[in-house]
Amino acid sequence: MAKKTIRDIDVHGKKVLIRVDFNVPLKNGEISDENRIVEALPTIRYVLENGGKAIVFSHLGRVKDESDKAKNSLEVVAKRLGTHLKQDVVFVPVTRGKALEDAINALENGQVLMFENTRFEDIEGNKESKNNPELGAYWASLGDVFVNDAFGTAHRAAASNVGIAANIKQTVAGFLLEKEINFIGGTLEKPERPFVAILGGAKVSDKIEVIQNLLKIADKVLIGGGMAFTFFKAMGYEVGKSLLELDKVELAKELLDQAQGKIELGDDVYTGKGFSADTEKNVRSIHEIPQDEMGLDIGPRTIEIFKSYIKSAKTVVWNGPMGVFEFPSFAEGTKSVALAAASIKNQATTIIGGGDSAAAVIQFGLADGFTHISTGGGASLEYLEGKVLPGIACVDDK
Ligand code: ADP
Ligand code: MG
Repeated sequence: MAKKTIRDIDVHGKKVLIRVDFNVPLKNGEISDENRIVEALPTIRYVLENGGKAIVFSHLGRVKDESDKAKNSLEVVAKRLGTHLKQDVVFVPVTRGKALEDAINALENGQVLMFENTRFEDIEGNKESKNNPELGAYWASLGDVFVNDAFGTAHRAAASNVGIAANIKQTVAGFLLEKEINFIGGTLEKPERPFVAILGGAKVSDKIEVIQNLLKIADKVLIGGGMAFTFFKAMGYEVGKSLLELDKVELAKELLDQAQGKIELGDDVYTGKGFSADTEKNVRSIHEIPQDEMGLDIGPRTIEIFKSYIKSAKTVVWNGPMGVFEFPSFAEGTKSVALAAASIKNQATTIIGGGDSAAAVIQFGLADGFTHISTGGGASLEYLEGKVLPGIACVDDK
């Protein structure tokens, strides 16, 4: 369903509430990865350039009691935002009250204000995270229009997304949320075919609904990573010390049945004796994994099989690494799949949804080879499951 975006409203002279995802990693009080700040800049700049008053807010970390406040303050993020925007960001160190209201009323067109971590409101009764109606109504009262640009939290109904939307005239998507809706939502709705889904990562249990949903939509589902071994077991093979979820073997059988050949698991793996970077590496066919070895990456023949499907795809959606890519000697499968997907960039839509898969591709320096790398781990997973995300549902329809 088409959603309204910030381009569909007039922001001039308006107090524009902008929910962003500034949940950045902090190390010793310093921002160690500013990607989320950079990703939010187009939306904030658009509001400023069009004469709006930007009121920016986000959650950061978890705040359960007063002692969590100091280490989860957004002040350092507000400073960094100011550096990027090349203008002052008024930082208000509270989440409600007269000081905040006065600061907002003092804003001129084209100025930016940020207020403190929305999760400071979680200390009493999880008001933010549980979408307390009074809190959503209060934040809504601070602005004229609401722009949701926080995809990373779109899978949770909080006061700062759904709560505000329920209490304000207009709710639209920012550019980042729009991108996620178009690429993930749009692709799942109307994929160009052949559509190849690549699934990996650690566990079947984390990804059951993603597998089920993509089996419905994709033409081929390639499965690698730790979760492949539960499928191999379901096919009757012994998997040695590989990651195995015994209680999901029956489910894997059912999925294989339903899939009627759509699932491709390959036929070999790289194994090691221990779960470590320097363990000795062997290639094993899947029907001869020794008892004392574990599969840590897809094997060379499997890599070629997966590559051949990827090469002819018009759409690729990828969630979950093919092996323990954190160990350089077991990164080959993940890297080969990434290279294959990157090589078809000009003829296909290639999307990565999943925190570790995104990290892998960025680590390989291949991020530019993809059409879209989703910014939300949990949110992209639920989106791939085919769920309605509350943070998207609350945006006005076109
Ligand atoms: P994503 O965040 O992309 O959704 P997951 O969180 O599901 O991915 O899985 C990522 C993790 O899976 C990585 O830390 C990786 O080491 C692990 N993994 C991949 N293959 C294997 C394997 N064969 N055995 C054990 N762990 C694996
Ligand atoms: Mg992960």
